[in-house]
Amino acid sequence: MSNHDGIPEDAEARRAIRPVICYPDDGLPAVDLGRYRAARPGAAKVAEVTVPPRDARAFHVPAGHFFRISSVEGPQVGDLNLWNAANLEEKFFSGKTRALHGTHVTVGDRLWSCLPFLRPMATVVEDTLGWYGTDAYGGRVHDVIGTRCDPYTHQLLSGGTYHHCCHSNLTRALAEETGQAVGEAEMRVHDVLNVFMCTGFTADTGQYFMKASPVRPGDYLEFFAEIDLLGALSACPGGDCSAEHSSDAAACYPLLVEVFRPADGAIAGWSSPAVNAYDRSHGTK
Ligand SMILES: [Zn+2]
Repeated sequence: MSNHDGIPEDAEARRAIRPVICYPDDGLPAVDLGRYRAARPGAAKVAEVTVPPRDARAFHVPAGHFFRISSVEGPQVGDLNLWNAANLEEKFFSGKTRALHGTHVTVGDRLWSCLPFLRPMATVVEDTLGWYGTDAYGGRVHDVIGTRCDPYTHQLLSGGTYHHCCHSNLTRALAEETGQAVGEAEMRVHDVLNVFMCTGFTADTGQYFMKASPVRPGDYLEFFAEIDLLGALSACPGGDCSAEHSSDAAACYPLLVEVFRPADGAIAGWSSPAVNAYDRSHGTK
């Protein structure tokens, strides 16, 4: 039964059905933040990389180390890619991370690798923007919604050519780090964690929005590396992403990546997670 508008008579009843969480938190392996936090105070800095504005840099983080991404000179968003350092086919899976943890990540959430690996690559252990929560527009910080700004979408929408989108920056950084040709490295670049970016969906139209990041110099997001990682971070040409990207118009600042090694034995009981246990037969056996 429906009225002449094609709206069924029980439309409101259907809309009123309560949602269920797709992946309840209690189905995931427990995160022992206490173990990580106990290991952090004695950790020593072993490497640092400064990411120039509108550019990207690669960095290595051994399993069992911490890495911190900091705002240093002004509000700046970073686009993060992660790979298994020993196998670049295992890379960060923003879509499943979003499905498991929500649209934005913070302390206790993990960055998961793609299929068929699907294991934690890194765990968020500190977030100085954790206070931000959810603003009146539905905005939150550190999203796994957006993909990364790229020259193809820019070409599609504006007809222009721009070479310093995060996709291109990450491509150059990976090519330089691995010695791969640019075209080969590009195929390894993937959807990002938007570090410090403040985003959401409009309540009325469901459109993806961004707004000026609340990040200020001194703020940071810190991770524990669960496996040996190769990372690449782009300081987005959008700067604080308050207005536009894919251009040189926005004020942009560097980002700092630091790597810390815990003292020997400080993370007793921790072991690097194995790849997913599914047998990969897909019903063919
Ligand atoms: Zn970008």
